[in-house]
Amino acid sequence: MKTYISLWPAQAPELPFPRSVAILGSTGSIGVSALSVIAQHPDLFCVAALAGGRNAQRLAEQAAHFRPGVLAVLDEAVARELKALLPAGYAPEILFGQEAYEAVAAMPGTDLVLSAIVGAAGFLPTLAAAKAGKRIALANKESLVLGGRLIRAACRASGAVVLPVDSEHNALFQALCGHNGDADLARLILTASGGPFRGKDAAFLAAVTPAQALNHPNWSMGAKISIDSATLMNKGLEVIEACHLYGLPVSRVEVLVHPQSLVHSLAEYVDGSQLAHLGLPDMRIPIAHSLCYPRRVALDMPRLDLAQAGDLTFEAPDEALFPCLGLAKAAFAASHSHPVALNAANEVAVDLFLQGRIGFPDIPRLIEAALARHTALKENCSAAELIAADTETRRQTLAAAATNA
Ligand code: NDP
Repeated sequence: MKTYISLWPAQAPELPFPRSVAILGSTGSIGVSALSVIAQHPDLFCVAALAGGRNAQRLAEQAAHFRPGVLAVLDEAVARELKALLPAGYAPEILFGQEAYEAVAAMPGTDLVLSAIVGAAGFLPTLAAAKAGKRIALANKESLVLGGRLIRAACRASGAVVLPVDSEHNALFQALCGHNGDADLARLILTASGGPFRGKDAAFLAAVTPAQALNHPNWSMGAKISIDSATLMNKGLEVIEACHLYGLPVSRVEVLVHPQSLVHSLAEYVDGSQLAHLGLPDMRIPIAHSLCYPRRVALDMPRLDLAQAGDLTFEAPDEALFPCLGLAKAAFAASHSHPVALNAANEVAVDLFLQGRIGFPDIPRLIEAALARHTALKENCSAAELIAADTETRRQTLAAAATNA
């Protein structure tokens, strides 16, 4: 039985245009790129809802342009600020709080939900969209890391479809189109840029600053995923994401460092064929693919010119220098709740690093300690139990960081 969430083309139900879209995380890097794709194709979409966190100014500007009927933000104070910034004569419903994101995700009348909140905060809204039977364009990889099993079960029950926005998983989705079933597939190969510290040594890493770590060589992204790229935790989370999406064991998902970020991943078949997806490192490409699937739309942006691109190089990741990748694979193999602890400890550690309160090498140290403390939850645990484990790991990781300081 196939266990992936992404449906092969023949199985994805028809979704006519114009599509009614709700965007969770519209004020972030992915949200802004998605709205720029939608602005290029206004005839294909109707923006029904936009949800941001604290950035009322940006959300107000987006809302003034796209005029959705529903907006959502983190708390009441931001909701008041947002209301004051909206143009005269435009009075959308403004929701706030965690439940607001779940309500937007499950809103009647929307076809498509872009899940692009950052971190574990995206899990319950993604689950709500899955339970409501939506087509989900999934950027928030942490949703699958926390509760891939629950999201998959909800999709099966409701008929919801998850299409990956993450460039590597979107590349794989495209490379897997048209294959004849799981028996044909040998392995998946996720490419990784290697981040800003590829080729450095431990002494260098001990002294790096948040500004250096945020300076990704190829991609422009939010702060959390930029740090995750520097530690290779991003690739670790993506290995888990790929296992959930495509129903493979961690042993059949490999990572290959490709510093140019032009090959976005490869699917290898049992006959030795490897199918790769190439493109410029610009998230508008996988975002447009997942929002418009199965249709392809023209994008007003530069094209990849391989004659000008120079050498494409590949190498194995340095898992000794960047232990987060191995920690993620070990967490996924350990139990279905160890990834919750991995992710929670990582979010806390990244935050502390960005605040200058811990060093770069403390990130994997705190995560490793959190995994060692974690006791696996029972296989059929609820979303509430996963969230409780997330909260407890955050508390313990903060305490551990304070003790070491
Ligand atoms: P950003 O930090 O740029 O944006 C995050 C978004 O989430 C913002 O809209 C922010 O609101 C909102 N937000 C933050 N905290 C909360 C919260 N507690 N509750 C509700 N909303 C919240 O992140 P990215 O756009 O870079 O990443 C979003 C997701 O997409 C992540 O899971 C990331 O791993 C994934 N992804 C990102 C890629 C990229 O290129 N950026 C590539 C592939 C995957 P506000 O700013 O208003 O406070």
